[in-house]
Amino acid sequence: MKTTTLTPSAISIKSENLYSQLQCDHCGGIHDKNKIHTFCLKDNQPLIAKYHLSESFSKESLKNKPYNMWRYSEVFPIEKEENIVSLGEGFTPLLSLSNLESSYNQSRLLLKDESGNPTGSFKARGISMAVSKAKELGVTEMCIPTAGNAGSALAAYCAKAGMTAHIFMPEATPKTFQLDCEIMGANVTKVKGNIADAAALMKSKNDGSWFDISTLKEPFRLEGKKTMGYEIAEQLNWKLPDVVLYPTGGGTGLIGIWKAFHEMKALGWIDSIPTRMVAVQGDGCDPIIQSFKKGENSIPKYENPAPTIANGLRVPRPFGDRHVMKSIYESNGTAIAVSDEEIKDGLSEFAKSEGLFLSPEGAAVWVGYKKLRASNWIKEHESVVMLNTGSVYKYAENLYS
Ligand SMILES: *Cc1c(COP(=O)(O)O)cnc(C)c1O
Ligand SMILES: [Zn+2]
Repeated sequence: MKTTTLTPSAISIKSENLYSQLQCDHCGGIHDKNKIHTFCLKDNQPLIAKYHLSESFSKESLKNKPYNMWRYSEVFPIEKEENIVSLGEGFTPLLSLSNLESSYNQSRLLLKDESGNPTGSFKARGISMAVSKAKELGVTEMCIPTAGNAGSALAAYCAKAGMTAHIFMPEATPKTFQLDCEIMGANVTKVKGNIADAAALMKSKNDGSWFDISTLKEPFRLEGKKTMGYEIAEQLNWKLPDVVLYPTGGGTGLIGIWKAFHEMKALGWIDSIPTRMVAVQGDGCDPIIQSFKKGENSIPKYENPAPTIANGLRVPRPFGDRHVMKSIYESNGTAIAVSDEEIKDGLSEFAKSEGLFLSPEGAAVWVGYKKLRASNWIKEHESVVMLNTGSVYKYAENLYS
């Protein structure tokens, strides 16, 4: 039987933690792993955690581990168990979509449903890791610009860790997210404009005493989000799917899943990586799709991003752009845009067929799948995993009308 109620003290971090160093993939520069870092200031690029990936961490050892994301703790940056700040994140279900499989003639269609995570989204994975590592390095105050879910998660994990959270969110963010943050004791500022405007205001208010954990400007949210890749592999008995579709904003999840697949290959857990990675965005702010069409490796700022009901996808200038594009190109993947109208129709179709009420971001992925299936980019015999990254219930006000 799976146990889901595990406290941090039930999590065992083996002495052979494999974390080796923190590196900028652009210049190769190595950063002292015992100090606090944000990103490579020379190149404006994210820092990536590296591990001594050897057979000493075997997949067989997982059978004694807790059923949450901490079961993969050997390949995490946390060195002391006492620093783990956990609310039970991870090991979400990989659901079989049997009704849609028949209607769309797909041999295997699966949904990794992240809505049951603490605070209702997969952001819990990244924030749990980032707050734990920040605690290990002595941080006491953190700040973040957010489209909603990252703010809720930061507020919760900071409450648990006894830290202070400063949260900046666009005015258009559904109210539940603000309530969430405030009730957990965070300081919330509402900002005119989009997430980039929230980030700019935050920067102007920070005198240097707040640790900025914006997407990929902090190295370890990626390490939390990569656990989705480990779980997908484990839940598919170590045979990766042909296609993964991911609702992409800053791209941490996409990069993280791709990173996990490579780590598992180096660990000898999987033989090959056949998976094509697909980024799905809203058509009112689709900088990744624009760069993909031009075959570019970087992503210029998207001007005048339109509001969308899929708040998490509205990121005009993903900081980890090179990593996002690399994951798509290396995997022979693609990038596709969908409209709010299509998202609403997709939500309703999915709910009626499978009894699952997706978040708008999850429904965007469903629409992306349908388009790629219609063009036969996804073939009948292939196995497909889609991510539903959050719970719909905080977005209710986006869906009235
Ligand atoms: C933040 C968010 C996204 C985008 O995630 P990235 O990994 O930053 O691309 C997608 N869906 C939801 C529900 C989110 O909260
Ligand atoms: Zn660098």
